[in-house]
Amino acid sequence: MSDNERAPRASYDLHLHTCWSYDAMATVEELFEAAAAHGVRRIAITDHHIIDGLDEAVAAAARYPDVTLVRGAELTVTTSVGAMDMVCLGFTPDAIEALAPVWDAYHEWQRECGATTAAGVRALGFDYTDEQLAELLASYRPARTIAVQGMTHVANKMQRAWFIERGFIASDEEYGPLLAAAGEHMPRPPYPAAEFVLPAVKRAGALVAIAHPTGYFLRDDRERMELLREELLLDGVECAHRRKVPAELTPVYRAWCEEHGLLSTGGSDLHWHEDVPDGIGAHIGPEEWWGEIEARLPAGSMVNG
Ligand SMILES: [Zn+2]
Repeated sequence: MSDNERAPRASYDLHLHTCWSYDAMATVEELFEAAAAHGVRRIAITDHHIIDGLDEAVAAAARYPDVTLVRGAELTVTTSVGAMDMVCLGFTPDAIEALAPVWDAYHEWQRECGATTAAGVRALGFDYTDEQLAELLASYRPARTIAVQGMTHVANKMQRAWFIERGFIASDEEYGPLLAAAGEHMPRPPYPAAEFVLPAVKRAGALVAIAHPTGYFLRDDRERMELLREELLLDGVECAHRRKVPAELTPVYRAWCEEHGLLSTGGSDLHWHEDVPDGIGAHIGPEEWWGEIEARLPAGSMVNG
């Protein structure tokens, strides 16, 4: 795409994954390089469920002094109405230490999820051993991430392709039903509870925003939005998202944020190498949102800030 055809690019991108997420392969270096090249001056690394990649991010930030790093994580929690992704922003080194029980719970959850998925598929009569799970993870995950996180669940993209290759399923469409059937035999462990994770994150000083809320909010169902605002102790809402928030809902969510004194965030949710150059900063959140967020981020939670 040429420059005038592509999506607008904001000066900040507060939702980014690296290869430290079980389902992502982008590197911190790629994200910083793209941010610097395209004038995205603030980025948050928000890997799934963990902060294991933040040391690499801090090291990369030293090579890109014009790009501010916000330490974050995307934590999926069990709520009264299902599992929901929370973009948590602004972890200081002290906060990261204080939250050790939370990181332990997610590391444990990821390993249980990987093991129960393989066991459930085996229970359907397919050959999916723990050794094969290990090989599949090693086929796309860097060894250093496996050394820290162990045998996690597998990115759907890779697991689906492997199921097809092995003849477990004939097409992409059969993947979801196969996993659902496996889950009947071996139910996936529930994500850590919102009431365990979120109060701890807030006590540690970080900000809690609900990620790409369109599904969670039933588009813009006020009753649901109010329920989640209270239950999830929201500081903010990801009102702009590269793919999962329709442009017409961004002003609706923003108005609701203003009504309740909530922050509005925006992010691209990048996972894969090939999406990074066009995707970095590709959301419609305006500049003023960053200023509001920056004012609320705890001292010491940013690098180059
Ligand atoms: Zn994400």
